[in-house]
Amino acid sequence: MKIVMLGPPGIGKGSYAKELSKRLNIPHISTGDIFREEIKKNTDLGKRVRSYVEKGELVPDDIVVEVVRRRLSESDCAKGFILDGYPRTLRQAEELDKITKIDLVFNFVAPLEVIIDRVSGRRICRKCGAIYHIKYKPPRKEGVCDICGGELYQREDDKPEIVRNRLKIYEEQFRPIVQYYKNKGILVTVNAARTIDEVVKECVSIIKKLESYKV
Ligand code: AMP
Repeated sequence: MKIVMLGPPGIGKGSYAKELSKRLNIPHISTGDIFREEIKKNTDLGKRVRSYVEKGELVPDDIVVEVVRRRLSESDCAKGFILDGYPRTLRQAEELDKITKIDLVFNFVAPLEVIIDRVSGRRICRKCGAIYHIKYKPPRKEGVCDICGGELYQREDDKPEIVRNRLKIYEEQFRPIVQYYKNKGILVTVNAARTIDEVVKECVSIIKKLESYKV
């Protein structure tokens, strides 16, 4: 099953993708993770994308499309994959169609206040990058990472006023992409204002239903 995940920042897409990847035994491909890894390793690609990623700007389509094309051609993607963080532009969606045939697009939605609550409670470890939430996944000791003892901090762009702005930008940017997949008849909207487990269960049941149609 070839799946695309759409949804605003902070809705939990990454968590759903990771869990689904385990349950379905297909790779979770996050373009953001790929770029961060390349930057860390200081590869040629990392050098080309660093300034965009650091500023939170979109990496140019030509670069992203090439990265996705290469990654999807690897053997572990033959059975399927979960694409997270791509497409972010209409052009990326169109190019993806030239690379492969997407079966299903999940569009995760939740009320604004739920998203703000999730994002603004997020804390990250400065040392190892582990992610916590002050309400839903608190560390054992406030402000300290359970795993490595590092200091926890809040990303500047996770603060409520900035989150509101990011969500507005997201809406405008993604409206045409959501419409694109709706027109193709492969978009399924999922209510993400529930626990991770509930959301993932619904995704699995949608996938199973679709697979039984295909057989
Ligand atoms: P993410 O972890 O998905 O928020 O991605 C982190 C950063 O990587 C983004 O702010 C962009 O700079 C870059 N990036 C990731 N995916 C894409 C994409 N599909 N198109 C353009 N830039 C991307």
